[in-house]
Amino acid sequence: MSIEIIEKGDRLYRFVLSDVSIEMANAFRRIILIEIPVMAIDEVIMLRNDSPLYDEILTHRLAMIPIITDLKIYNFQQECSCGGAGCSLCSVTLTCDVKNDTDEIILVTSGDLISNDPKIVPVSPNIPIVKLEHGSSLTFEAFAVLGRAKDHAKFQSVAAIAYKFYPKIEIDERKCEKCTQKCIALKYCSKELFEVETEESNPKLIPDFWKHCNLCEACYRECPEGAIKVEWDDNKFIFSIESDGVLPFDTLLNKSWEIFREKIDDFKEQLKNLEIEIE
Ligand SMILES: [Zn+2]
Repeated sequence: MSIEIIEKGDRLYRFVLSDVSIEMANAFRRIILIEIPVMAIDEVIMLRNDSPLYDEILTHRLAMIPIITDLKIYNFQQECSCGGAGCSLCSVTLTCDVKNDTDEIILVTSGDLISNDPKIVPVSPNIPIVKLEHGSSLTFEAFAVLGRAKDHAKFQSVAAIAYKFYPKIEIDERKCEKCTQKCIALKYCSKELFEVETEESNPKLIPDFWKHCNLCEACYRECPEGAIKVEWDDNKFIFSIESDGVLPFDTLLNKSWEIFREKIDDFKEQLKNLEIEIE
């Protein structure tokens, strides 16, 4: 198994995963999506809420705010030495105390949440929570804990993760030579992945065509000579991960392998204890 990074931005990560089956690739996708622990607000003590939103709706909005997570320091609350009561190793307190003394309507945002751990804060200070009219107040205490998205989607470690097959396209030049309609196939490629030097020359694929090809097969269907063959590699996948910024990409990948290995070990252990009756 190998990984080749093709794009690494702040919030977008693309890489090629090679020498794996589609089952493994999908297991990897599912682990990143639902198994990696991240912080999210799980409990709110509402002290004063003059906003137009009910407490329940406000707390739901708070739970959806992505929060930067540190997996080295924090434990799951249920596994913590405090016994689940909540301590500095399993829970972060975010307080909000806003009073609108102006004549205008103001917007309370994620930037108004004050954390007791400066590293564990919302990924952006500009996420809207609620509007407050003149003279209104909003005061609450919120507690963020670690959780997994298989229990609740608010604990999702990425905004989206998807993979596609690695495309393999071949052009048979001998068939192109005979063609009188050069080149009808490249006109049908919505991603503009073919190029020709002159009107008379044979089409060529652009160098990074595989990054953009979505295997629509339009070139294959429209080529009058049947000169283009579209296939894909069964053991090579192009992954795209969109992050909301709660965890760095390196941590996401390392943690996903760690969880994957734990699952395999657990499976082996369970197999050992299994008694199979053969009739
Ligand atoms: Zn604790």
